[in-house]
Amino acid sequence: MTSDLTSAPAAETHEFRAEIRQLLDIVIHSLYTHREIFVRELISNAADALEKFRHETLVNPDIPEKERELAIQIALDEAATTFTISDSGVGMTREELTENLGTIAHSGTKAFLAEMAKAGKGDVNLIGKFGVGFYSAFMVAKKVTVETRSYHSDSQGWRWESDGVGTWTIAPAENAPRGTRITLHLREDAEEFARAPQVREIIRRFSSFVPFPILVDGEKANTVQALWTRNKNEVKEEEYAEFFKFIANAGDEPFYRLHFSADAPLAINALLFVPRDNVERLGFGRMRPGVDLYCRKVLIMKHPEELLPEWMRFVRGVVDSEDLPLNISRETLQDNRLARKLANVITGKFLGFLDEQARHDPERYAEFWAAHGRFLKEGAAEDFAHQEKLAKLLRFESSATEPGKLASLADYVSRMVEGQQEIYYINGPSRAGIEAGPYIEAFRARGIEVLYTFEPIDDFVLSNLRVFDGKALVSADSGDLNLPGEQKDPEGEPMPEADAQALCEWLKEALGTRVSEVKVSARLVSSPAVATTGGLGMTGAMHRVLMAMNRDAETHGAFMTLELNTRHPLVKRLDVLRRDDTTRDFARELADQLNDNALMAAGLLADPRAMVERMNRLLAKAAGL
Ligand code: ADP
Ligand code: MG
Repeated sequence: MTSDLTSAPAAETHEFRAEIRQLLDIVIHSLYTHREIFVRELISNAADALEKFRHETLVNPDIPEKERELAIQIALDEAATTFTISDSGVGMTREELTENLGTIAHSGTKAFLAEMAKAGKGDVNLIGKFGVGFYSAFMVAKKVTVETRSYHSDSQGWRWESDGVGTWTIAPAENAPRGTRITLHLREDAEEFARAPQVREIIRRFSSFVPFPILVDGEKANTVQALWTRNKNEVKEEEYAEFFKFIANAGDEPFYRLHFSADAPLAINALLFVPRDNVERLGFGRMRPGVDLYCRKVLIMKHPEELLPEWMRFVRGVVDSEDLPLNISRETLQDNRLARKLANVITGKFLGFLDEQARHDPERYAEFWAAHGRFLKEGAAEDFAHQEKLAKLLRFESSATEPGKLASLADYVSRMVEGQQEIYYINGPSRAGIEAGPYIEAFRARGIEVLYTFEPIDDFVLSNLRVFDGKALVSADSGDLNLPGEQKDPEGEPMPEADAQALCEWLKEALGTRVSEVKVSARLVSSPAVATTGGLGMTGAMHRVLMAMNRDAETHGAFMTLELNTRHPLVKRLDVLRRDDTTRDFARELADQLNDNALMAAGLLADPRAMVERMNRLLAKAAGL
């Protein structure tokens, strides 16, 4: 390639390569929305060029002109309707300019075209994803002029120009400083991009953390630095707080902060925050993920849903990995091996961090748990890859804690009694409600701890977990418990075996389909009867959820077992009454009430109306009427 450097030669005209022509045709004719992303694309290219130059100055001592500030300048001219972006980066030689902006179709070009053909209509976000960002300039410009000079010491300047239609021209440029200046001659329908407030706002949204100053008409437009890439010993507390407020749109300080870097297995800089409040709990609807994905300080994706597990949606922050391809798309994020690895490392780190916090300052962790425990429960139930770590972070009240204080599953295991194989939990509306109910009698009598769960999701989580530390998790209202040890101080003598069996049979017949089985209980101490859930892995809490949808008593009866305490005087009396013809009807009323009382204690009485009428009849009798 020859060019006359002494006389001012006429510009050479070249044709765009076919794929690029097609690409430009789409860019110019079908992309009308979100055109502002061209600002991000050009800034990202400028930042790349600056980054490369910075790297060169580090590795190559012969680089001239180091004194020029590494910055991105944007000059706007409303009268001329131009948008000009300059950088003092590596610039381009004639060959680079020719190849990069017209000849070489990036590998992404074809993919972009294929996607566009599939999508049918223009999705502007695709353009940045396929590494063809430069051409986005033509969404808003009727003509683009690129003036550039490479940092190589003997380089001269070149001017590239095109209307994006079929050809481009190239000519030498006198006095071009090192770096690149791109001028967009805006189309009439894109004049807003020559106005400073608009441009500043776009920069604030997309490029705030670009690690070089961005000056719009000489004034800095990005205030926040790429904190996450700095050494954490050098970042001030206020800087973290400010950064958090910025990215989380928050008014308060972050509750937890995790700033870490790793080199292996991936190069990662991550800065994660946990906000103080859980807005989901405050009734603002489901949260959206809030962690941005960067590659070398350039934003690749804002809040990608596909990066981190769903339960982590309450976390805000930035993940930066230089191992990720800049042109990774939302669609490929889930299938990308590196992205999956990245997500795993980050999730693991975050869980490790929480575990550390929980050990270090359990009271503060309890505050965290109160706000965000719900998310961890969700994770423990659904995120099988991290289930074990999540299980360690769960907290519950228990019969061994003071009211309001929490126990971990590991705490529980450390307190298990001799011979105990299982971890027990019971769901109820409140601590007082659970402790007044019949379910924990047997545990109390044997000195066995029971975890108290107050939300229906808890039972779902624990039954999904199945085991912790090799111990099965068992709902204390399930019918078949194998409790270790002897019950202490049972009250009264049990009924003879044969009488007890006969009473059970009579009761089953009297109660009909409202119970599936009536049996002698081994667990009761002071209550006459208790309703337990028989088999099918159904716990009382799940049953209550089911009941909210279907209130038909017979459906529920299929799951219920009535257990009788045959030491109880009322049960013994019932046996006497049911044997006598004259009192049998009354015995039936007692049986119905006993069953309803048991259901009530379980929170499973579907329809109390019949029960209230019966109670009134029994009261009348008790009052001697
Ligand atoms: P990508 O940035 O994904 O490579 P682009 O279409 O945005 O794709 O840019 C194409 C190429 O043009 C870049 O890879 C780079 O080599 C060159 N380029 C674009 N802008 C600049 C710039 N400001 N300074 C130096 N080179 C640039
Ligand atoms: Mg680019």
